[in-house]
Amino acid sequence: MKQGTNAAIMRKRNEKTILSLINARPVSRAEIAKLTGLTRAAVTIIIDELISKGYILEEPTMQATVGRQPVMLSFNGKDIYSVGINIMRNTFCVGISDLNGNVLLEESYPILPPKGFFGVIREIIENQIAKTGIDREKIYGIGVVSPGPVDAKAQKILNPPNFNVWHNVSVADEMKKLGYEVFLANVSNASALAEMYFGPAKGINNFMTILVDEGIGSGIVLNNQLFGGISELGHTSICYDGVLCECGNRGCLEKYAAIPMILKGTGFHSWKEVIDSDNTALIEKEAEYLSTAITSANNLFDLDMVILSGDLRYHPAKINALISAFVNRRRLQNKALQICAGQVTSKSLIASSVIVHEFFS
Ligand SMILES: [Zn+2]
Repeated sequence: MKQGTNAAIMRKRNEKTILSLINARPVSRAEIAKLTGLTRAAVTIIIDELISKGYILEEPTMQATVGRQPVMLSFNGKDIYSVGINIMRNTFCVGISDLNGNVLLEESYPILPPKGFFGVIREIIENQIAKTGIDREKIYGIGVVSPGPVDAKAQKILNPPNFNVWHNVSVADEMKKLGYEVFLANVSNASALAEMYFGPAKGINNFMTILVDEGIGSGIVLNNQLFGGISELGHTSICYDGVLCECGNRGCLEKYAAIPMILKGTGFHSWKEVIDSDNTALIEKEAEYLSTAITSANNLFDLDMVILSGDLRYHPAKINALISAFVNRRRLQNKALQICAGQVTSKSLIASSVIVHEFFS
């Protein structure tokens, strides 16, 4: 019995490894065998099953002039769906996407207290399945994200700041009533996954996403794996005797570079206004604050890329160039650190990325 279970786990693992390879780029059966170390026979069995499930496609071959061209296999995510639920402090967003990252339908509503919320969610999902006309059997799972911290394993929202009514809420029991697998993540980690599958971090092994708006959130991927612990760049200090933060630390990045902080006393009401008026002094100040923390993160993790999202996505070329110049002047590593703007803006796709990650890993 135990042997059978182990074989099933191994089989599942091999299947996911093969799916990840094919998702990265089209590959042939022979190449898969070479890259995974599996026998050709084992690869054939798994590929045949993935083709019958509709997860992968055989690409049409070109007419070869000499010999036979290998049949290339590509990932077919457009018939596999995920439901994404993004719980935010003022609103929540529900949507259905395919695993290629196409959002079929997305709807936003004012936030509700947990009591009654999940009943409403179930109704919304049923409506969305009907509206999109998708086959409910093809929904792989439901991704739920909320402000952190969350206990992903216990599927519980813990104690996010300024969100007291949602403290200690268990997501698992309520959502399982729908009959699908449910996975919970904090929004910063989910944003990192979204950029890894659908943004500039595709194929990047080590990167950090930084969300800058009312606060500062961060997510880290190292060696292609999401760092599951509580990673809070916003609460790393850029000034050891600086402003006292609620977390107990002094000089936290968030106290200087969160948008309300950088705007304080300037007369500007939004980061958009700062960019539209091309206020170089303020843009440079924000770049310097963020660069100081990014330099520390790079020294700790030897990153390949940093992705900035949130309010900083608005015409990001100038600030990203300033940050790039700053951090690359102060690095020990041989390789340049790339600074990019985040590309995934759909709130429900960010939540669905948790399911995409479960599908491949
Ligand atoms: Zn702090």
